[in-house]
Amino acid sequence: MTQPSDKALVPFVSVDNMMRLIHHVGIEQMLQDLAGYVEEDFKRWELFDKTPRVASHSDVGVIELMPTSDGEAYGFKYVNGHPKNTTEGLQTVTAFGLLADVYTGYPVLLTEMTILTALRTAATSAMAAKYLAPKGADTMAMIGNGAQSEFQTLAMKAIIGLKSVRLYDTDSAATEKCARNLQGLGIEVVSCKTPEEAIEGAQILTTCTADKQYATILTDNMVGSGVHINAIGGDCPGKTELAAGILSRSDVFVEYPPQTRIEGEIQQMPEDFAVTELWEVITGQKQGRSGDRQITLFDSVGFAIEDFSALRYIRDRIKGTDYFIDLDMLADPDDPRDLFGMLQRAKA
Ligand code: NAD
Repeated sequence: MTQPSDKALVPFVSVDNMMRLIHHVGIEQMLQDLAGYVEEDFKRWELFDKTPRVASHSDVGVIELMPTSDGEAYGFKYVNGHPKNTTEGLQTVTAFGLLADVYTGYPVLLTEMTILTALRTAATSAMAAKYLAPKGADTMAMIGNGAQSEFQTLAMKAIIGLKSVRLYDTDSAATEKCARNLQGLGIEVVSCKTPEEAIEGAQILTTCTADKQYATILTDNMVGSGVHINAIGGDCPGKTELAAGILSRSDVFVEYPPQTRIEGEIQQMPEDFAVTELWEVITGQKQGRSGDRQITLFDSVGFAIEDFSALRYIRDRIKGTDYFIDLDMLADPDDPRDLFGMLQRAKA
C-alpha cells in the first residue's frame, strides 16, 4: 500500500484533543489569545471575502455553512442550531471547521468547533465589550445559562476584568449547573429568580437564550441608560431576544450588516436602521462608547471571520504539539494524474 506524503496529511483536532489543548493553555489565556486573533482579523476586515452565511432552515432548526478567505487561507465552519435538541439530550449548537491553503487548495486543518465556537463567541463578546461597555464595568447579568454561559462569563473576566455575574434562566437546573461550574474560578456568582433581579446593578446585560421565536428576554423598561447589552441568542430569522423599543434607544454595533439584518435583533427594524460595524470601531474610524448615558448594543450573530480567526489560532497553536492526529484525507498519487493507477495498485 502507498503511504500518503506529509503534504497530503491533514492535522485533525478531535474534541478530546481540543479539551487537552484548552487545559494545557489555560481557558482564560486561550480566551485572551483568541480575542487577540479576532481583533487582528477585524483590523484587516476589508481584505476578507465576505458573504452572509448559507443557511438551510427546517421547522426545528438550521444548518449553516460559514465561509471566508483572506486571500492566503480559506476557512469554513459547519454549524447547526436546534433549540429543541437539549430536550433530547443533544446540543443546541455543534460545529466543525476546516482551514485550507488558497495557493494549493489543500486543507491544512480540520477541527472540532463546538467548544471552539463557544470560546470564539465569548472572546468576540468580550472584545466588543472592551470597546463598548462603560468604563470599569464589573457586573454582568447572564440571562440564559446554557452551553455558552460559562464561556461568556470567563471571557468577560479574562478580558475586561468582570468581578460578578448574576445568573437567570427559565430552567433553574441550568442556573444551578452554571453556578456550580463557575465555583472557584475567581468570580462572584449570584443566582437569581427573575430576569429583573438578574439585571440589578449590572452594567453589562448578556442575553444568551435559545428559542425559535420572537422572544422578549429584555423588555424596554428593564434597560436603563448607560448599560451595554451583549445580545447573543437572536441569530436566526424569526429568533430574537429584545423588545424593539430597546433597539430604538441604543447605538447598535454589528459584525457584518448584510447577515445581521437577516438574523440579528435588527431584523425587527426597517432595512435602513442605522448600525455601526464593529471593525470600524476597532480600527478607530468610528466611535464606540461616547457617553455615560448611552446604551450600547452588540447585536451578535456570529460571523465567518471570527471562525477563521479561531481556525488560524488552532493551526498556529498545535504546531509542535501532540494535540492532533494526521488524517489520510486527500488522495495523493505519486503521479498526480494517475489517480486510477493508485486505486489499481491498492488492490494488489
Ligand atoms: P443552550 O440551549 O445550551 O442554552 C440556552 C438556555 O436558554 C437554556 O438553558 C434555556 O433554558 C434558556 N432559555 C430559553 N428561553 C429563556 C428565557 N425566556 N429566559 C431565560 N432563559 C431562557 O444554548 P447555547 O448553546 O447556550 O446557545 C444560546 C443561544 O446562543 C442560542 O440561541 C444559539 O443559537 C446562540 N449562539 C449565538 C452565537 C453567536 O455567535 N452569536 C454563537 C453560539 C450560539
